[in-house]
Amino acid sequence: MNKVVIVTGGSRGIGAATSRLLASRGYAVCVNYRSRAQEAAAVVDAIQAQGGRAFAHAGDVSVEADVMRMFDATEQAWGAVTHLVNNAGVLFHQARLADISLERFQTVMTTNLTSCFLCCREAIRRMNNGGGIVNVSSMAARLGSPNEYIDYAASKGAIDTLTTGLALEVAGQGIRVNAVRPGLIHTSIHADGGEPGRIERLAPNIPLQRGGQPEEVASAIAWLLSDEASYITGAFIDVAGGR
Ligand code: NAP
Repeated sequence: MNKVVIVTGGSRGIGAATSRLLASRGYAVCVNYRSRAQEAAAVVDAIQAQGGRAFAHAGDVSVEADVMRMFDATEQAWGAVTHLVNNAGVLFHQARLADISLERFQTVMTTNLTSCFLCCREAIRRMNNGGGIVNVSSMAARLGSPNEYIDYAASKGAIDTLTTGLALEVAGQGIRVNAVRPGLIHTSIHADGGEPGRIERLAPNIPLQRGGQPEEVASAIAWLLSDEASYITGAFIDVAGGR
C-alpha cells in the first residue's frame, strides 16, 4: 500500500517529530505549515537525507480553500491521501477567562477546531479505500486549563467529541479515527503562552517527574495510524507521564 499522510503543523514540535517518524516508516509526507517556511524545509531536508519522501506545503488549515489546495497538492505529488494527522494548534498568553477577548477565543477555535473539522471532512470524502486519522488533542481537554487558557482547553474538548463521533460515523468505511492527548511536551508552544519555563515549574506534579519529548508523542501517533492498531478506533492515548 502506498501510504500518503498529511501532517498539519508539521514544521515544528510534535508535528515535525511525527513527520520524521512517519517518513522513516515509509509514508510519503505532506509537511504542512502556516508561515515558517525555513522550519518546514528543514524537516523535509532531514527526511530526504534519510531517503524518505516529503514535501513542504504552506497553508492555513483553518481556511477551507487552503485545505482543499493542500489535499490536491498532496494527491498530485504522491497519490491518494491515506492518512491524516491533525496536529496544527495554537494557544495564547495565559489569562483568566474574564480577560479573554472574543477575537482571541474565535482565533483559537478556528485554528484548533475548525481546521480539524475541515481536514477530517476533506479526508473522509477522499478516502475511498479506508484510512487512518489521528487528532492531536491535549490533556487540557480533561483538565480545563483554569487561569491559563480555557479557550484552548475548550477547543481540545471539542476535538475529543469530534473524534468520538467521526470514529463511529466512518467505521463502516474502514476509516479509523483516534486521538492523542499530550501533557507537557518540550516545544515552543509554552513560550507562546508567555511561560517558557512552564514545564520545569509543573514537572514535580507529573508522576513520571518530567516533561515529554515530541518524539514520544509521535510514537503514539504512528502506532495509532499503523496496522498494529487495526482494531482500534474512537480511542484516546494520554501521552502525559501519568498525569
Ligand atoms: P508548536 O511547536 O507551536 O508548533 C505548532 C505548529 O502548528 C507549527 O508547525 C505551526 O506552523 C502550525 N500551525 C499553527 N497554526 C496553523 C495554521 N492555522 N495552519 C497550519 N499550520 C499551523 O506546537 P506543538 O507544541 O508541537 O503542538 C502541536 C499540537 O500538539 C498542537 O495541536 C498542540 O495544541 C498540541 N499539544 C501540545 C502540547 C505541548 O505541551 N507542546 C500539549 C498538548 C497538546 P508554523 O511553523 O508555520 O508557525
